[in-house]
Amino acid sequence: MASDSGSDDSGDKVRPGRLRGAWRALTGRGADEMRARPSPRRGGGLARRVSLIDALIRGLPAPAIVLDRDGRVVAFNQAARSIAPALRAGELALIALRMPELVDAVRRAIRKREPQRVEFIERVPHDRWYEAFVAPVSLPESDGAHIELLLMTFNDLTPLRRVEEMRADFIANASHELRTPLAALLGFIETLQGPAKNDTAAREKFLAIMQQQASRMARLIDDLLSLSRIELNAHLPPSTPVDLASLVRQVTDGLQTLARDRKVEIRLVMPPEPLTVLGDRDELIRGLENLVENALKYGAAGKRVDITLSRAQTRSGAPEARIAVRDFGPGIAPEHLPRLTERFYRVDVADSRSQGGTGLGLALVKHILNRHGGRVSVESTLGQGATFTMHLPLRTGDAPSGA
Ligand code: ADP
Repeated sequence: MASDSGSDDSGDKVRPGRLRGAWRALTGRGADEMRARPSPRRGGGLARRVSLIDALIRGLPAPAIVLDRDGRVVAFNQAARSIAPALRAGELALIALRMPELVDAVRRAIRKREPQRVEFIERVPHDRWYEAFVAPVSLPESDGAHIELLLMTFNDLTPLRRVEEMRADFIANASHELRTPLAALLGFIETLQGPAKNDTAAREKFLAIMQQQASRMARLIDDLLSLSRIELNAHLPPSTPVDLASLVRQVTDGLQTLARDRKVEIRLVMPPEPLTVLGDRDELIRGLENLVENALKYGAAGKRVDITLSRAQTRSGAPEARIAVRDFGPGIAPEHLPRLTERFYRVDVADSRSQGGTGLGLALVKHILNRHGGRVSVESTLGQGATFTMHLPLRTGDAPSGA
């Protein structure tokens, strides 16, 4: 008994007992019929064409498997191994294709002689979504006979699914963000039309809140439009030379009023030499404004914000410009750091809203820097403030001073 069951499951060869069940499941025909059929490798017409089929299949970038009419593997390409690592030419496909949806589609295609489309999920090692097409193919022979084959091709739907999920999340988040101030506005309008109709003091107070809420909606729409514009242009690297020192000064001057309101002093540290990047000046201003505004809003308690422009090198040794915005506020706990540039991610939602935040500022910064071939980095220790740094590739030929 023990050796019997052992011989059934071990080794590379497919055992008759296992084949009989597999065969019946795949084609609905009996095992006797299977045995009566010549092996596809030995069948004259097909054997002659296998190398041609093989060559064609190997040229396809997507996974592709060709089966004979008995459901045996005639040929498959390298990409097919990612879906069915156990594929072997000459063996029943069912043995390697473990997905029941796929086996059903093969069975239907054999029975109905019509193309079938099926979707399935591979759960291990990670969720991956595929669509498979199983198409009957008929190869005419010189003697008027036909060789009947099945062509299976696969598309990996995983990236599409992930984008769909992200879009659905994004729309849900954006609608939620807009609905909250909208609900407040409608509530105040109702109150002003009804109970507070003739209450002058209440009207003044409510109108001020309504203005705040309407501005919040306007800011959100503005940020959403900016994000989508930057994404649309993501594949077009900006090409205008931008002097970073004047850009830093412009942003700092523009935020002096906010800095005074928050009682924060902004200090600038500039490099001795000019630093020029190829960029989109308006986008870079927008990105730096977001970082400095955040430092002034969330780090106001530190009373000081340092903005340092410097020349540095990437890990691979390429020259880059860095604009570091350092505040001395409460800092950010380490678990939040990797998620800060996600859309609508906030450490403290109420704090962000009370500061007029949309949760999109750092996502914008990330996209702007991506488009410029750079990146944003964050360093922070709780209680010791935070440093957000824009890294931008420097134009080659910009030699460091003294070089
Ligand atoms: P928001 O519109 O909420 O400011 P951002 O994308 O600009 O959105 O920032 C995301 C979150 O990161 C903020 O809500 C805040 O919690 C946190 N954050 C950003 N900058 C700082 C900073 N300098 N210090 C502390 N927390 C910060």
